[in-house]
Amino acid sequence: MFEKVLIANRGEIALRIHRACHEMGIATVAVHSTADRDAKHVLLADESVCIGPPAAAQSYLNVPSIMAAAEITGADAVHPGYGFLSENARFAEIVQSHGLTFIGPSPDHIRLMGDKITAKVAVKEAGIPVVPGSVGEINDPEDAIAIAKDIGFPLLVKAASGGGGRGMKLARKEDELIQAVQTARAEAAAAFGDGTVYLERYLEQPRHIEVQVIADSHGNVVHLGERDCSLQRRNQKVLEEAPSPALDQAGREEIGQIVRKAISKIGYLGVGTVEFLYEDGKFYFIEMNTRLQVEHPVTEMVTGVDLVREQIAIAAGEKLSFTQDDVRFNGCAIECRINAEHPRTFVPSPGKVREFHPPGGLGVRLDSAVYSGYSIPPYYDSLIGKLIVHGACREDALRRLSRSLDELVVTGIETTLPLFQDLLKNPDFQKGDYHIHWLEEWLAKHDS
Ligand code: ADP
Repeated sequence: MFEKVLIANRGEIALRIHRACHEMGIATVAVHSTADRDAKHVLLADESVCIGPPAAAQSYLNVPSIMAAAEITGADAVHPGYGFLSENARFAEIVQSHGLTFIGPSPDHIRLMGDKITAKVAVKEAGIPVVPGSVGEINDPEDAIAIAKDIGFPLLVKAASGGGGRGMKLARKEDELIQAVQTARAEAAAAFGDGTVYLERYLEQPRHIEVQVIADSHGNVVHLGERDCSLQRRNQKVLEEAPSPALDQAGREEIGQIVRKAISKIGYLGVGTVEFLYEDGKFYFIEMNTRLQVEHPVTEMVTGVDLVREQIAIAAGEKLSFTQDDVRFNGCAIECRINAEHPRTFVPSPGKVREFHPPGGLGVRLDSAVYSGYSIPPYYDSLIGKLIVHGACREDALRRLSRSLDELVVTGIETTLPLFQDLLKNPDFQKGDYHIHWLEEWLAKHDS
């Protein structure tokens, strides 16, 4: 097992990894920008190294600085968390070439899944159903029109290197398509340094359902069921739950086994999430994330599996501590993403947190790096914490969520917490009857 892990991240996820390491008897090294000197992940780590100024490009994405920090502290592995360098195949290679372990899949798998076009081809070959679309990239507008005739409208133009819900353009008719291809290309080139785009049938009212997998280097692959992440704003997840209100045990087992077989065929190692759109009882693959996800606690709460602990153990060459037959799905878990943003306008609200009072009690978990008196810097993502609740059934979980939201106090800044209190009063949400556009439609109605 590793003796010392460098955590190449910040915020709640850095803390989550630190906690798993300490429970495993592993020392931690935090890296941080000059803006994060007082961050909780820095205060709790065994050692910390400042790796640059506030801008992420010069600190959390600064590979030479991070590698220097790993060398001077004698770390033997690097955990990338999510975001930042977590899906950067080159970074994984550099870590390995320095004789350290990258806690994640192989650089080849990161690369394969990082390009959504090659990912789609690979999973389709492995037996996973995909969204109908262009087989590869779209080279010119004429190409797009010919393919559109085959697939039919509406269509979504998507960036091969896209992420974070960006780089997508909708075309409902032929005359919108050329413009959509051009805009998507330009935006993707500016945002991701790669203007490659492809076409996908636009599904009108699907749910977003994803399957968590974990695979070790001894040939064991296990699926840990699904998470429903259909409550989204601007293609970004806002609330996640497990199990999905739309699936029954047979449906869960069926998609779980399809994914499990495919992941085994691909020879994947580590934790990963296979994301689908789900409409009219059918699953359509959209992408695979080759890292730990923000919403992983929802799966931990219903299965009792410590995903980060297993992820670290697998990277150290150990066998998974459980088999598929050991996995039991117990009750319902719901996660709310708490952002430092105005709850209606979603304008970021960084600044000093005056009071921070976490909720407690049975079935309540708060993953956050915030504390009273902490100043949220304006330079990074606005996610400041995640409130996760577990209940024996969905009704229990909803009641527990409402009670925990009442207890949770954050003052001094705006947060998205009031949004969840309002959502809980909605009958459709209470029934679990929603799709990926539901939240935006609800917000538009609510504000008018
Ligand atoms: P990203 O990597 O940017 O998150 P994804 O491919 O995972 O991109 O898609 C993010 C979200 O965009 C999905 O959860 C869904 O809401 C929407 N989306 C993606 N593809 C489609 C599609 N073909 N039809 C309808 N919505 C889509």
